[in-house]
Amino acid sequence: MRAAVYYPPDSIRVEDLPVPKIGDGEILLKVRACGVCGTDVLKVTRALPKKPVVLGHELVGDVVEVGQGVQKFKVGDRLVVAHHVPCGQCHYCRHGNHSMCRHFKETNLDPGGFAEYLRIPAEHVEQTAFRVPAGLSDDEGLFTEPLSCCVRNVRRARLMPGDFAVVVGMGSIGLMMVQLLKLIPTQVLALDLFEERLELAKRLGADFTLRGDSPDIAAFIAEHTEGRRADIVVFTAGGGRVFQSAFAWVRDGGALNLFASLSDKPVEVSLDALYHHEITVFSSYSPSPEDLVEAHRLLCEKKVQVAPLVTHHVGLERLRESIDWITAQQAMKVIVNP
Ligand SMILES: [Zn+2]
Ligand SMILES: [Zn+2]
Repeated sequence: MRAAVYYPPDSIRVEDLPVPKIGDGEILLKVRACGVCGTDVLKVTRALPKKPVVLGHELVGDVVEVGQGVQKFKVGDRLVVAHHVPCGQCHYCRHGNHSMCRHFKETNLDPGGFAEYLRIPAEHVEQTAFRVPAGLSDDEGLFTEPLSCCVRNVRRARLMPGDFAVVVGMGSIGLMMVQLLKLIPTQVLALDLFEERLELAKRLGADFTLRGDSPDIAAFIAEHTEGRRADIVVFTAGGGRVFQSAFAWVRDGGALNLFASLSDKPVEVSLDALYHHEITVFSSYSPSPEDLVEAHRLLCEKKVQVAPLVTHHVGLERLRESIDWITAQQAMKVIVNP
């Protein structure tokens, strides 16, 4: 089968790999579509994997073979599958830190979504695979995993209806975050440097939009919150400088929420401001199984629109190139059809 193999530090080659063999309780999936995630981009641009690997974990495919004992699915089913499974019992899992569970980090699909075929291990079959209903396209279905990451983030933010949220970065993650915040509903100010992304944010429910480099952001937020400022600033993009600016955007007792690695360099912040204003800094990374269920439900019930976030479809050969488009912000969600 054909697969796009990443070789550190910077190349992706389409190669012929053996089709994975499945065992009891496992499924062989023929990949229909796999989204390029921000973490795939980061892995390639920062050369994070130290050995060759097939990336890709936002995928939809058809079941072409089932192992002994598989009850949940049958040949011909169209599935979306997430790549990590928490153990549910360790210290991390019991504290709701499923994405920090050691088992979670070790589990994966074989070899990865940027390939023609994929082996789904038994515990993924049981816990992270969902049938994609006829009303949901491949493109929509594969958003189950990235949307579930956003669902967990918004859940952890503990916001109340009527709160004021600022979302930095209107890429595909930011645009999903806006829609989830509107389900609470909070008021949402969307920030980005591109006019067309701000337009899309408006169309998907953002109450207000401003350019991310506008000098008026702090005053705008104060004006719309009776001078209190925002309950939360969600960073899906931006750098250390934007993070520093956000101290002027967030209210006393509010939260700065990292949903992206804004910088691989240290960023100076005022501990005095954090302390005296009781500002919480929290991050969120991957989902728990319950967030996957919730994200799948939201997509099936069309509560979150994801089709407008897709800008490109490519074959395996153009995966490396598409990562450059995403880095240069010329593409939003790129979907690979192996
Ligand atoms: Zn992802
Ligand atoms: Zn665990």
